[in-house]
Amino acid sequence: MKNRYGHHEHTDFVAEITYGSEKRPWHPDFIGFIQEMAAHAVYAGMPDAIDEDGKVQWESPSNRRSGKYQNTHAKRLKWWMGKAECIGISTEENQWISRVAKRIHPLKRKPCRNCGRWLHLDYRYPNKTAMKKFREIFEGLEFSELTSILEVVDLVHSEYGVDGLKQLVEVLSAPSAPDFPQNAADSPTLLKVFLLDIYIPAEVKGKLGPGAMSNAPDRFDGFHHFNRCCRGRSDPGRSKKNLSTYSTDRRVFEHWCGGDWIAADRLMGQFPSAFTDHECRIEGCFENILTADHIGPVSLGFAHRPSFGLMCKSDNSSKNNRMSLFDIEKLRAHINEGEEVFSWQSRHVWDALHHRVNDEETARRLSKVMRDNQRIAMEILCQLKGHGCLAYLATFLELGHARCDVEFVGLSAVDGVTHFDAIKHKPRTSKQVEKQMERRLRVAFKSLDEYAEKENRHAWTIQDTWTIEIEAMVALLKAGRTTRTVEVDRRLEEFLTGGRVRKDSLFSDIEIATEYPPKGFSEATDTLQSSLKVIADSLAKEWDSDRYIRTGLEG
Ligand SMILES: [Zn+2]
Ligand SMILES: [Zn+2]
Repeated sequence: MKNRYGHHEHTDFVAEITYGSEKRPWHPDFIGFIQEMAAHAVYAGMPDAIDEDGKVQWESPSNRRSGKYQNTHAKRLKWWMGKAECIGISTEENQWISRVAKRIHPLKRKPCRNCGRWLHLDYRYPNKTAMKKFREIFEGLEFSELTSILEVVDLVHSEYGVDGLKQLVEVLSAPSAPDFPQNAADSPTLLKVFLLDIYIPAEVKGKLGPGAMSNAPDRFDGFHHFNRCCRGRSDPGRSKKNLSTYSTDRRVFEHWCGGDWIAADRLMGQFPSAFTDHECRIEGCFENILTADHIGPVSLGFAHRPSFGLMCKSDNSSKNNRMSLFDIEKLRAHINEGEEVFSWQSRHVWDALHHRVNDEETARRLSKVMRDNQRIAMEILCQLKGHGCLAYLATFLELGHARCDVEFVGLSAVDGVTHFDAIKHKPRTSKQVEKQMERRLRVAFKSLDEYAEKENRHAWTIQDTWTIEIEAMVALLKAGRTTRTVEVDRRLEEFLTGGRVRKDSLFSDIEIATEYPPKGFSEATDTLQSSLKVIADSLAKEWDSDRYIRTGLEG
């Protein structure tokens, strides 16, 4: 769905005819979109669709006093009336014109003129009050006022099960809303079908809102330029703060990345509102609604730490898991300043290769090698899980960070990267702590199961030296077993398979084992690290191989 029109496809077009000012040109996806709409049969006969310069005349404000197109607004209003008659909507009805615009819209979605984000036109996005409730009930789930309620259903179900769905139904229920069927919360599919067929079309204003507001005939397709994402910029009544995501980056858990994940999450949560005075760090991009970019991507095994690049959504997602020279240099600087940028799996491969990076190509190459290293690291974890070493694995997750909340003093950004003078830690209430720990454990272990299912184990670029090392680790863990570690393994297994366990004591046992590893654990970790070193050295030998030099899609 991203880049439906592809940025490159329309490059020529943009160069030829510029939409918008130099400072903030219209988003290429939006330009692609208006081209498609202007040519669409649904809008056939739209008055003054193309102007003298061959440009789509998207806007037709009612206040044009002169010029060739001063009557466009009135002519288009007539067109909309004709359309209404065609499809059987009476122009006597309230908001007839927006009803027509919604009904005939060929895509039922549109990109934002400002940021290019595609959103649906129907009422599927949680509004402020619904969001507030969701955040209270489902602490830590990452969604915002821009997440479709259908996605919210899946997110809630995957982490809170049917009980979570029941709570979701409670929040969405209202006297003005359609009644939920008795069994609505029994399955995510049932609930989504009801929402899509009945609830969303009912446009329950107190709960959900549309991705873009209607304003026919001022705009060609009858919808505002700015979607829900960027409305704050044109409508002073709506604060940008409302859009900030309560973010806990799920991918961090999925990749088993270390680091102060609570502090990092808190800093992510400051986006975009704390950085609206800055622009995207990518040259030539002036976007100032910014997202947090991991300088060292977590998908490459870097730590999730409170330090981020400032990037617009679109540049951030096209960076994906490729580091640029900028990223490498920043990482080097942070390492020199004594910061821990690595997670347990990535130090050796970085050490073996980073000195060979001196341009964009080699920066990308290191990214590819680190991606392979990360796959192997995940494979090792999967196998350890297969051997039942659950308590040992749980110590990688650094649960203890959840005990502290943080506050940043003097938060700003320097050279496109976040900066703060100090970080203040303060204790959190035990209930929140437990929720966060629980989520991290569940997401991380679940991702190992999913990884084991999908990964192609025969595609390793280097010889598998680790399977034998894993057996050595398992032997060390077994030899070092104590009644306590056996007990933690058992209770963790119970917890992960949905059994009833006292979570507080289980979590604190894991914390103790993290802080003061039993002999078996620390010996296994030594073996793991020396194994990762061997893997890094083998990967380094492939530096000049086709796999890493070849340009194109990421492996
Ligand atoms: Zn937007
Ligand atoms: Zn950008």
